[in-house]
Amino acid sequence: MAHKEQVLIRLEGITKEFNGTIAVQDLNLEIREGEFLCFLGPSGCGKTTTLRMIAGLERPTRGEIYLRDQRITDWPPQRRNIGFMFQNYALFQHMSVYDNLAFGLRVRRVPPTEIERRVRAVAQALELEPVLNLRASRLDLSTMQRVALARILVIEPQVLLLDEPLNNFRPGLRELMRAELKRWQYQFGRTMVYVTHDQEEALTLGDRVVVMNAGRVEQVGTPDEVYWRPATLFVAGFIGRPPMNLIPVEYRISEGHAFLISPDFEMRVDERRALIEASSFLPRLILGIRPEQLLIPDLHASSHEGLVRIPAKVDLVRPLGRKLILDLKTRSGLLIQMVTPSTRRFAVGDDLEIAFHPHQALLFDPHTGQGLY
Ligand code: ATP
Repeated sequence: MAHKEQVLIRLEGITKEFNGTIAVQDLNLEIREGEFLCFLGPSGCGKTTTLRMIAGLERPTRGEIYLRDQRITDWPPQRRNIGFMFQNYALFQHMSVYDNLAFGLRVRRVPPTEIERRVRAVAQALELEPVLNLRASRLDLSTMQRVALARILVIEPQVLLLDEPLNNFRPGLRELMRAELKRWQYQFGRTMVYVTHDQEEALTLGDRVVVMNAGRVEQVGTPDEVYWRPATLFVAGFIGRPPMNLIPVEYRISEGHAFLISPDFEMRVDERRALIEASSFLPRLILGIRPEQLLIPDLHASSHEGLVRIPAKVDLVRPLGRKLILDLKTRSGLLIQMVTPSTRRFAVGDDLEIAFHPHQALLFDPHTGQGLY
């Protein structure tokens, strides 16, 4: 479904404190109509608290929340037309699936014919028709999950908030449910806000990802943007397995040219001079390069011109099917990780020259953590 680019929910300067603990700090965010937005971050970074404020279950200490252009900061949850599903969703075990789905509509005094119509439509979409008459207690986990979601969908909320809804699933099933969720979202075209600490989940599900750390938003971007153009050192180090190599370097001018120098390599950066010189902590910088962007010039026949080369020794080999992860030690003792096709055999102790294309290297200010773009 094409996204309407309209803003549905706007969070303005939201801060939430619990007895002196700042759970969320000065958060500004626009949630667009029809998008799948994932909140990603380590435990305790404020994801759930943010979701609960959108739902109306917590009141921000400061800041405002808008639904379209209406200020809803003080509205109770039931007035917001927002559906939410938390990690431990509880179905009414003794009721049939049908009654579980109809319950929220009956409470809202929806006419019986309309209840029947909505329950049937959602049950059909989520393939729940065969189990409509079964008691909830007799369902397997994945069906319970679908019932929990269907129960929200029948109410036809404008937004669905999901907090780690797949945590209870074993890994294989979790992947399956992930694909299902994506399909449902596509099918129903609803705005979904999804909290997870699992980066793979956020990157595969989200149209956009909000990366949070210690109560603050580090970056909001598409999965590609947060992966390939991380706004901060935190995002660079948090997203990606194995993580991005973050290498300390020094900026130097020599004979009119700008260089980044490390004990293991040097690199010309004339074209990035202006960006670098705006950095706050010169001459120190951090250079970031993804493990899969490193290559072995011996193995790759394509152009080697302009490559930055690093002599290294193999320290650990971890096969991963068609690929493998190499841990390498440079002459200065730096650990660098690379991902490479497993077409060649490597042994611990092998000497190897690795390299990268200089234009692929990202640069960060070590003091502010900001990427220099
Ligand atoms: P997790 O994935 O572990 O749930 P999270 O990113 O969702 O983490 P939150 O649950 O939002 O993080 O918590 C953010 C911070 O606020 C944490 O330090 C947490 O201890 C604190 N916090 C959350 N709720 C409360 C509360 N009701 N009372 C006191 N402190 C709270």
